[in-house]
Amino acid sequence: ENTPAPNFIRTLIQEELAAGQYEQIVTRFPPEPNGYLHIGHAKSICLNFGLAEQFDGGCNLRFDDTNPEKESQEYIDSIKADVEWLGFQWAGNIHFTSDYFDQLYGYAVELIKSGKAYVCELNAEQMREYRGSLTEAGKDSPFRDRSVEENLDLFERMRAGEFDDGAKVLRAKIDMSAPNINLRDPILYRIRRAHHHQTGDKWCIYPSYDFAHGQSDAIEGVTHSICTLEFEDHRPLYNWFIENLPVPSQPKQIEFSRLNLNYTVTSKRKLKQLVDEGHVAGWDDPRMPTLAGLRRRGYTPASLRKFCDMAGVTRSDGVVDVAMLYHALRADLEENAPRAMCVLNPIKVTITNYPEDQVEEFTVPSHPANEAMGERTLPFSRTLLIDAEDFMEDAPKKFFRLTQGKEVRLRNSYVIKCEDVVKDEQGEVVELLCTYDPETLGKNPEGRKVKGVIHWVSEPHAVPAEVRLYENLFTDPNPDSNKEVDFLEYVNPESLAVTTGYCEPGLLTAAPEDRFQFERVGYFCADRFDHGKDDKLVFNKTVGLKDSWAK
Ligand code: ATP
Ligand code: MG
Ligand code: MG
Repeated sequence: ENTPAPNFIRTLIQEELAAGQYEQIVTRFPPEPNGYLHIGHAKSICLNFGLAEQFDGGCNLRFDDTNPEKESQEYIDSIKADVEWLGFQWAGNIHFTSDYFDQLYGYAVELIKSGKAYVCELNAEQMREYRGSLTEAGKDSPFRDRSVEENLDLFERMRAGEFDDGAKVLRAKIDMSAPNINLRDPILYRIRRAHHHQTGDKWCIYPSYDFAHGQSDAIEGVTHSICTLEFEDHRPLYNWFIENLPVPSQPKQIEFSRLNLNYTVTSKRKLKQLVDEGHVAGWDDPRMPTLAGLRRRGYTPASLRKFCDMAGVTRSDGVVDVAMLYHALRADLEENAPRAMCVLNPIKVTITNYPEDQVEEFTVPSHPANEAMGERTLPFSRTLLIDAEDFMEDAPKKFFRLTQGKEVRLRNSYVIKCEDVVKDEQGEVVELLCTYDPETLGKNPEGRKVKGVIHWVSEPHAVPAEVRLYENLFTDPNPDSNKEVDFLEYVNPESLAVTTGYCEPGLLTAAPEDRFQFERVGYFCADRFDHGKDDKLVFNKTVGLKDSWAK
């Protein structure tokens, strides 16, 4: 396998290991199960699991499940499947932050006992007002000086369900005038009577992200807690908990910049909105930047890992060109996808000098550069289909496809010459009458050059398939960043077109998720769910052939 590109986190870990700071690294990937994973998560997965692989450590999969209302088993299942599909395996069992609810509760009690946490009754609006702002120090809550005994009693009763949702919170007692607002007595626990997918109705108080995250890292022995830059300002709080609690290990938070991709939104909330409002067919719609959507579109795990590696790991925010994602995908498919022929916009060709009932079978390589991929068989007969765009009646000189009186090579087959055209009542060309040169199979014709090569299928042998053609889901490069325009305004109404393609018969045996290059057309993938149902062939366009990525 390729060695991953160096980055500041890899370098740091190398140095720490060389200095003997620990025996083994432990990282974790901590998704909240409130949606499907997207391409941004792939970057975090590749980084966390990749580091563990490179340094012989482990990477935990931990569901950060502190907001039960928004979470579900469906999301848990999809996340596990997506991580495995990308080619990674978590260390040991799956973890849930909710596994630690008892321990976290105990830590909260410890903080109360040492005078570092208190029960507060300010409502949300008051809380905001007391918190101050970047330019203005906060004010102490009137509940800040409660005695340890009173706090212990109230917290116990919060847990026992004696108070209404939102009536009280537990807060850390740090510093209401700290320049970093995260240190102004942050909330540790809220009362929320919500059924939890893992713990059922055991709890009616739930820990905040900030209180749960670092302690969960410490409990699991995580050495490097890698997260995105928006948590940089939370790091002092992360460290404050680790320093003030009897935690079993000392994890360290390291931030890197999020992956942003143009023509794409990568926010679970917005992706959920696209699904809920029916702009796409589901989380795994092939237009979605979710891993499930990318998979269905025809992306390979290797191409996504390659892309994440190319995107790099830095601390500066930027937007990656989606053309780079397509580039990584194409590079993989160019090498690994077998070739096939499929005509999307057919016009009939009759080879007038080819015998009526004759059928030949050509055995041709599945991949022009890789013999190991084997061979396939192409039937050839008197009537063929070619793409209508490969014929032009009054063609300019540089048109190297088919035109009247000129020759073209049929891919993997003979050279044909267009002798005449048949038109319908409207004057549309509906059929091309051609002759073939029997001496040109696998050979150049005598005494003349034929430049063009076009794809074709034998009409009586062609197999129709539903072909789904996809474009970017958004028409604007930055659908997410315009404050005046809702991102939904930029949804591309032409992001999906469905047509019928006529395939070489070998595609009858394609299995769901098999990928092909339809020669001269693009890369396609048999739909993971619909292909083969009721004997119907369904291919999704993964990406076109032309690479527009500029390094
Ligand atoms: P979203 O904003 O889409 O809801 P999130 O950060 O809330 O994403 P989590 O489930 O908490 O989603 O993410 C799990 C991990 O994936 C976190 O460590 C998070 O930092 C990382 N992650 C999420 N989005 C990206 C991204 N665009 N680039 C890199 N890492 C990401
Ligand atoms: Mg999160
Ligand atoms: Mg989120």
